[in-house]
Amino acid sequence: MSSTQSQPTQTQQWLLANKPTGLPVLSGQDQTFKLETTSLPLPLKQDQLLLKLVYLSNDPAQRGWIDPRVNPDRFYLPLVQLKTPMHARGLAEVLDSTSSQPGFKKGDLVLASMGWSEYAVLDAAACQPAPELPGGLSRTHYLGALGATGLTAYYGIKEVGETKPSDVVVVSGAAGATGSMAVQVAKKIVGAKLVVGIAGGAEKCRYVEQKLGADKCIDYKKEGWKKDLAEATSAARGGNEKGFVDVYFDNVGGQILDHMLSRMALHGRVVACGAVSEYNSSEVTGLKNYLEVISMRIQIRGMIVFDYYHKFAEAMGIFKQAIQDGKLNVSEESEQVVEAKFEEVPKVWMTLFQGANTGKLVTKIL
Ligand code: NAP
Repeated sequence: MSSTQSQPTQTQQWLLANKPTGLPVLSGQDQTFKLETTSLPLPLKQDQLLLKLVYLSNDPAQRGWIDPRVNPDRFYLPLVQLKTPMHARGLAEVLDSTSSQPGFKKGDLVLASMGWSEYAVLDAAACQPAPELPGGLSRTHYLGALGATGLTAYYGIKEVGETKPSDVVVVSGAAGATGSMAVQVAKKIVGAKLVVGIAGGAEKCRYVEQKLGADKCIDYKKEGWKKDLAEATSAARGGNEKGFVDVYFDNVGGQILDHMLSRMALHGRVVACGAVSEYNSSEVTGLKNYLEVISMRIQIRGMIVFDYYHKFAEAMGIFKQAIQDGKLNVSEESEQVVEAKFEEVPKVWMTLFQGANTGKLVTKIL
């Protein structure tokens, strides 16, 4: 992770050029992002870091940050402005530092929201140290299982979904970064009676069952998946052959959410975590099964991970212990690290929407 380059004075950045209404466009005059070179604000002031991006987090949520439909007064973060760098979180190497805090010296790796910038100058106060992890775990997990997506899964299952051992739980996007942790938290930490994943493709479903411990995973791209799901959730219900679901952790929204409304148990809880199937649609799918919310007294609760940051240490302590006890699978299998040149950053990010990743999608900048 060390750099052999001399200190940069300029950086490449991917700027937001056009806010997309559908799928972001990678080339041509309507291209969503534009690569530019700009000067770095050097020399460093007191308590600043000169950073080189090493690993980049890829998140479907970033699509929302550039969406022209979003009302900034009703959003959880400042939106990306036109002609400014795309926001993103990453792991960066400290090339130079005027901070005396531990973890911020030259050569250290830090967590930073430096966006799609090859290099950046940031205040040390805006960065967090990324010390070595126990058991030789790769520090890329700070971007996934041991970072925001793991935290989302933990508090989504535990606090938003109020999941109990007697519950039947369904998790969509189950092979992805958040979903893979939600499955494991439900099954291995809460000990829910039955945990069923929903994911795209047989290979992902095998991963969810064999590596994450789901009782069953349903391939939503296969014909007849709704019937397969009903059969899978019925397995835990004994006399109750209807197989209704107590907690649905929703990563995808759209038609899968709509169907799940018709499968929820009385007083069932929907954890509204994400709606990746809708992010690139010009129109959001309506919920045809909305009346089920009333008749079955379903609670649909939105969540944003930032509301739980003050509890980060608690969740991380539980995860680290569970990894050490062999209960939680956080390993090379929990992430997909794609090596790419900085010029290819938007292209790699876009593969999230084609389901190319199993586990957390991380870009390693070459
Ligand atoms: P991820 O699940 O690792 O990657 C995205 C996955 O979404 C893809 O691999 C693909 O899996 C699935 N997908 C893509 N297009 C789809 C479609 N049209 N229909 C159904 N599935 C589709 O990404 P992540 O970072 O963990 O995010 C998952 C969800 O959680 C997103 O909705 C994200 O916005 C949300 N999230 C919310 C919070 C919060 O605070 N509320 C925090 C983190 C993440 P398949 O191959 O299985 O389709």
